[in-house]
Amino acid sequence: MNDKPFIYDLEHSDMMSLLEELGEPAYRADQIWQGLYQQYWNTPDEFSNLPKTLREQLGQALQFEALKPIKYLDSSDGQTRKTLFQLHDKRLIEAVLMKYDPSTHKGQGRRTLCISSQAGCAMGCVFCATGQMGFMRHLTSGEIVAQVMYYARMLHTEDENVTNIVLMGMGEPFHNYDNVMAAIDRLNDSDGYNFGARRFTISTVGLASKIRQFADEKRQVNLAISLHAAEDEERDKIMPVNKRNNISKLLEACHYYVDQTSRRITFEWALISGVNDTEEVARKLASRLKGLMCHVNAIPLNPTTGYEGHATNRQSAAKFKATLEQAGIPCTIRMRRGIDIQAGCGQLAVSSF
Ligand code: SAH
Ligand code: SF4
Repeated sequence: MNDKPFIYDLEHSDMMSLLEELGEPAYRADQIWQGLYQQYWNTPDEFSNLPKTLREQLGQALQFEALKPIKYLDSSDGQTRKTLFQLHDKRLIEAVLMKYDPSTHKGQGRRTLCISSQAGCAMGCVFCATGQMGFMRHLTSGEIVAQVMYYARMLHTEDENVTNIVLMGMGEPFHNYDNVMAAIDRLNDSDGYNFGARRFTISTVGLASKIRQFADEKRQVNLAISLHAAEDEERDKIMPVNKRNNISKLLEACHYYVDQTSRRITFEWALISGVNDTEEVARKLASRLKGLMCHVNAIPLNPTTGYEGHATNRQSAAKFKATLEQAGIPCTIRMRRGIDIQAGCGQLAVSSF
């Protein structure tokens, strides 16, 4: 039963071929596409725009439930909702919705969805819960799309929409490059969900060759790079990927990206007490980033069981930001969201094993 194609894995052209095989006219593919991506239907029965026999045939030919929500958690302030999904092979992934209230946040009611690109991750960053669990497998494009459609459907019932999508859940998006891009393209389809490319952000550990490929494709999608250290010696220790993609190689690829796209890069920085939150590190970082159109997004480390590092404190974070800004590098300190529901990077899936 599990070898039936998952409906969200289909391109529009695949849907056309399927309907042709079923002896149906081509416009039925458009109707299904609209049902899926504009009405958010996710069971054959809901397709009220199709004849009953076709609905049954669809149910026989395709799988609709390859991504099963098995656990939900709402943060105590009701602003963060995390869902744990089980895949058809029992692997677990998660996605988190963060609501930003317009009265307390200049983001004017943003609804940011953080989705996963892999079950586990092969990159092994020592501070990361997903890295600590190792790599299980890549997600298919449909499994990525379905996380979005699940939340789109949920928000729709509350008369709301997803406004931003960030690939910052489990996994390294550039390690699963083709499926991630296929998912973005499908969600971007103007005849379907029509989610603007500029409202996506891909966060990568910094695979230089993929950053260059991404630059060449000149997509409008935002790019964030997880840097976390200003010197190779330190980055090697916390991010094993640095041995193959050292900071110079990474920053050369970043310059190439900015030259090709004229888009600003965001650098992510998890502030770890005494490790990368000092003024000295901030000064080194500023000197390395000088001349690059960028912005630093720093967030206090989320504690994980597999890493002994601690989060920075408020004063050190403020000093870090001030030092960067004095050197001309814009920096934002982000608050940690959803700590009480383990919404930090792979934590829910870890605690469910
Ligand atoms: N693999 C991608 C995207 C997923 S991780 C990447 O590494 O960029 C999303 C972000 O969370 C990354 O910036 C990552 O470095 C950060 N992160 C991982 N574990 C963290 C932790 N314990 N505390 C704070 N940030 C963390
Ligand atoms: Fe993978 Fe990103 Fe975690 Fe590193 S921080 S282990 S790349 S998910």
